[in-house]
Amino acid sequence: MAKISINVKEGTLNTFKKPKNIIVGIDLGTTNSLVAYIEESTGEAVAITDATGSSKLVPSIIHFGKQTIVGNKAKSYLLEQPENTIYSVKRLMGKSYNDIEAKTAYFNYKIIDDNSESLVKIKVGKQFFTPIELSAHILRALKQRAEEALQQPVTKAVITVPAYFNDSQRQATRDAGKLAGLEVLRIVNEPTAASLAYGLGIGAASEKLIAVYDLGGGTFDISILQIENGVFEVLATNGDTFLGGDDVDQAIVDYWLEKNNLAAEEVKNDQSLNQSLRLKAETAKIALSDAPNFSDAIGQIDCSIDRASFEQLIQPLVQRTLKSCQQALTDAELTAADIEEVVLVGGSTRIPLVQKSVEAFFGRKAHKQLDPDQVVALGAAVQADILAGNNKDFLLLDVTPLSLGIETMGGLMDVIIPRNSTLPVKAARQYTTQVDGQANMKIAVYQGERDLVKDNRKLGEFHLKGIPAMPANLPKVQISFIIDADGITRVKAQELRSGVAQSIEVTPQYGLTEAEMGKMLLDSIQFAEQDRSARALQEAIVEAEQIVATTEKFISQNQTHLSKTEITQTQALINTLKATLTNQSSDKDLIHQHIEQLNEYTRPFAERIMDVAIAKAMKGKKV
Ligand code: AMP
Repeated sequence: MAKISINVKEGTLNTFKKPKNIIVGIDLGTTNSLVAYIEESTGEAVAITDATGSSKLVPSIIHFGKQTIVGNKAKSYLLEQPENTIYSVKRLMGKSYNDIEAKTAYFNYKIIDDNSESLVKIKVGKQFFTPIELSAHILRALKQRAEEALQQPVTKAVITVPAYFNDSQRQATRDAGKLAGLEVLRIVNEPTAASLAYGLGIGAASEKLIAVYDLGGGTFDISILQIENGVFEVLATNGDTFLGGDDVDQAIVDYWLEKNNLAAEEVKNDQSLNQSLRLKAETAKIALSDAPNFSDAIGQIDCSIDRASFEQLIQPLVQRTLKSCQQALTDAELTAADIEEVVLVGGSTRIPLVQKSVEAFFGRKAHKQLDPDQVVALGAAVQADILAGNNKDFLLLDVTPLSLGIETMGGLMDVIIPRNSTLPVKAARQYTTQVDGQANMKIAVYQGERDLVKDNRKLGEFHLKGIPAMPANLPKVQISFIIDADGITRVKAQELRSGVAQSIEVTPQYGLTEAEMGKMLLDSIQFAEQDRSARALQEAIVEAEQIVATTEKFISQNQTHLSKTEITQTQALINTLKATLTNQSSDKDLIHQHIEQLNEYTRPFAERIMDVAIAKAMKGKKV
């Protein structure tokens, strides 16, 4: 909106432009982060440079010295002061020590392991930091960079996360934003942002299938997205959290060592030589993206390599990524030919062999015009612009990566929101009590694909207290799950007759690694048969226990209407059924057989009692 004022002295009109309330898009990356916005005059997404105008990438590195510094300046301390220079914080977001135990060698700083179940903490000097606090340092630096460039306060942002991030990792990212003084309007999946940067889906009424191939420095992700009427849905994701450009560099180092007849062990112990070799390998790799040869030396070590040898060297790595692509397609029940758009993200997609292989795999040209390092941040800016109200016919949807449900009798998993449900989503199911006068009900929330909760992951539990006294099976307890567009889950339990209600927000204690998530999915397939029979057995046991309880109650309440023989015979059948439940070798069929025998025998009693009750009720009534 324009404001007009009059310059009384000169008699002229001044037009002041009210600063636009800019919402920035942030790519909070493992190695590098970026902040971008939509430039008003051009309508183009632009990544913001530092004050010198030279670099758009902010290395995701924090150094704690006399002052806390972030980015390029912090990078130089990585070798000098590894214990107080923090990198790859994103890998720790929403994780417990248990989650990362096998990977601690990767981190040169101190990760606290006093309580393996709780969220990780990082010790720097005498201070302890959570990954949220550390990420907030990076976000603060990005906020500041944006404010300096735009000359106005920046308080709102859209932040991107990998599509496989779970609730706790998304929540942690949101919290980091808050801590940095940013209102996080939306957490957006990185592949969705990358597609938006290419304008995919914008204004398109038709349905489109997109593959986003993201090969960065240390991670690889493939996501299959569907856009329909401007709505994005993640159909499948796959990848490897420890595969990327760093492995390419290592492959070149190994190649040189072999070529120079050097033992890897020897070099490993020489930190500075090791580092020089790795840096040289990265230089060679980048050079080979444009030139057919690279030639150099470190002292006596010949550091040359040609593109053909390089391509041969990295072929297995590329093949691994294509295998993941195939798996993602299979999960989405698609073939490569179904994919209509391919988007390349991440610095390592500049490697010609990677581009060629991905294009050959999907049988089409990929979108690679934009800088692959910036594309996610640029897309986040596009999303921010949509949220700012400049592009209204848009909605962004994601899906649940794993099923969510609660524990029911016998330790069974009852799925309420199935895996791959589109967000936001709401679903509810009714349950009842097991015993007369039951006042409390425990609701344990689980995530996973297995039939028994013991094989799934517990997210939290709470108690619905104060259910008014009622006979078993009469209360109607509705359990509802609500997952918002950011994947934050709220579970509510309400007894519908009385209105008593209780709810929790599931902010899981710690997150899942992508590998664990993959394992959970694989296990559910591998153990499907075993799970099915375990569930059937458990259901039979629960049914038998309920029948035993109701029959015993029935007998004790209706002794006068039953003969002695009937009572002893019923008791005998109950005992036989109970014995099958405790017998390890019983199967569901045997249990059902005994349930049936008990039912058969007692059915006439129920009818008899019913007749007595009706006769009683009719007595004295005039018809
Ligand atoms: P990202 O994590 O997306 O920033 O990607 C960083 C990775 O891309 C690092 O491993 C870089 O060495 C690699 N990279 C950057 N530029 C090139 C290039 N021109 N050719 C090959 N790899 C590159």
